[in-house]
Amino acid sequence: MKGRFCPICGRKIDITIEGLCPECYRSTHPLMRRFPEIKIALCKNCFSYKIGRRWHTPPPEISSLEELILHAARKRISQSIKKKEYEIVEASLEKGKEGFTVILKIKGKSHRLIPKSYIEEYRVPLTVTFTLCPVCVDFKGKVERAVVQVRAKNRPLTSEEYNLVKDFVNDTIARISKDSIEIIPIEIKGDKYIDITFSSQKAARKVASELQKIFPFKRKDTQKIIGVSSTGQPKTKVTIRLMLPEFKVGDIISFAGKPYKVLSFERGKIRLLSLSNYKESSFSSSNVFSRAKIEIREEEIKKVLVVSITPPYVQLMNLEDYKVYEERFDRIPLWVKEGETVGIVKIGNRTFLVPVKA
Ligand SMILES: [Zn+2]
Ligand SMILES: [Zn+2]
Repeated sequence: MKGRFCPICGRKIDITIEGLCPECYRSTHPLMRRFPEIKIALCKNCFSYKIGRRWHTPPPEISSLEELILHAARKRISQSIKKKEYEIVEASLEKGKEGFTVILKIKGKSHRLIPKSYIEEYRVPLTVTFTLCPVCVDFKGKVERAVVQVRAKNRPLTSEEYNLVKDFVNDTIARISKDSIEIIPIEIKGDKYIDITFSSQKAARKVASELQKIFPFKRKDTQKIIGVSSTGQPKTKVTIRLMLPEFKVGDIISFAGKPYKVLSFERGKIRLLSLSNYKESSFSSSNVFSRAKIEIREEEIKKVLVVSITPPYVQLMNLEDYKVYEERFDRIPLWVKEGETVGIVKIGNRTFLVPVKA
């Protein structure tokens, strides 16, 4: 009886493979057992890829990141297909929520007695990590020579400040980089602050000076010797710290004994609104920077509704408990109107009216 009928499908057998008909042998013996998840590391700087322990340079004909990932994955899979007669006839990449999957069509036969080769499809999970290859790590380490640090004193940058600085830096770089490639920073990082790293100290100084044209920064340059070059010259790293004042636009400060609302930062100047006479003027930023004191942050200014005005009194409604009360003011500016929301700040024993955003 042995070898006459297939024990799985019951068919009469001409060729037996380990007691089964070729069809049943094939369906119970896939070409490949199972592919473990493939891991590939890519250098985000030069697009070299790492499989196993080795880094490989991408072939020049590759034009997209997906092509590169697929190329690396194919190479990695080929290494794990041991049998010579197995062949990858097709490979494609699927991008899902969890990551990538390589869809693989492999041609071969799982036993030499099976008369014809056939194709089986496999789905191989793929993880791609972005990193720096040793060459790029080395290169970056050597050329990092200058950093521009944008900060604000005792506080994080506001999102407006952050975006303005970042946009301005990008514009400046786009404008200047045509003349000198080294102006392009190696890295821009930070979230509540900004660090811009350059390979050239000249580039860092140039970008810092450009930034000073639009913001009232306090600037501090420091130089540190970080080593000796091959010719015996000291290698230095420059740090340029650009510091915005502790107060920001919208805050209430006292300056030269008087209260002001900060209206804007300009080139070397700070525009202030006096709360004593409601006149606007610009002051040199270094002067305001060193002598101003924060009284109240913009977000802490109390907002009230103007109910009626009978100079020198104004009837106000507290927007927290809807209580109406009266306050005396030496000056009632014209923008204080019935039905409007205004800000109230207390400095010492005096109360001032402040314009606020609706
Ligand atoms: Zn069978
Ligand atoms: Zn690299």
